[in-house]
Amino acid sequence: MRSIAENIERITASLPREVKLVAVSKQQPVEYIAAAYEWGQRRFGENKAQELAAKYECLPNDIQWHFIGHLQTNKVKYIAPFVSLIHAVDSLKLLQAIDREAGKQGRIIECLLQFHIAEEESKFGLDEREAREILESPLFKAMRHIRIAGVMGMATYTEEREQVKKEFRHLKEIFERLKRNHFAGDPVFREISMGMSGDYELAVEEGSTLVRIGSSLFGERNYKQTIE
Ligand SMILES: *Cc1c(COP(=O)(O)O)cnc(C)c1O
Repeated sequence: MRSIAENIERITASLPREVKLVAVSKQQPVEYIAAAYEWGQRRFGENKAQELAAKYECLPNDIQWHFIGHLQTNKVKYIAPFVSLIHAVDSLKLLQAIDREAGKQGRIIECLLQFHIAEEESKFGLDEREAREILESPLFKAMRHIRIAGVMGMATYTEEREQVKKEFRHLKEIFERLKRNHFAGDPVFREISMGMSGDYELAVEEGSTLVRIGSSLFGERNYKQTIE
């Protein structure tokens, strides 16, 4: 296996300057995160609230922690004090929970709306009609402690590049429509989070601004090391 430092250098060098790397450190030990940190990486992604809170406690406090997975409303409190971006928001109920917990912390938390773009069945992710309903609801408009910073999506897990590209292109189109119709002139609405180890090159070609890369950076995940 190549070292984490080499992987960061190689992947960062392959990304256009405006595309940011989220190093997905879920199920990886803190030593690996520290190694990436030593090499200048500051943006890390986790998908379990308690695992993230535990890692936050023992790592440098200038790390920007991104929450990238499905977040349950009752887990928001673990990450609200410090999380810098929540990638996968797909309900008004979750936005309300984030708004409430961010308010208790005196913070404003940036969130991305997750869209269902893959052909595969998935419980998670909005369609455009559902997103519009959220954005137009009085409850949403009254929220003071969240900001919608863009969109997030996951493509179908397939070797068919054209399929994957088409799905990423669809997410970019959703982003452009939302920007025009709901966020015109709002500089906070700016991110398109798409692309993982297997498909980030395609995502970048289609306009990704944030790639979420785990196994290509840190190697295969060791499930035994997961903090429950
Ligand atoms: C695990 C995960 C990733 C990273 O996946 P790799 O294939 O290891 O790069 C990216 N995004 C989400 C939402 C994930 O859960």
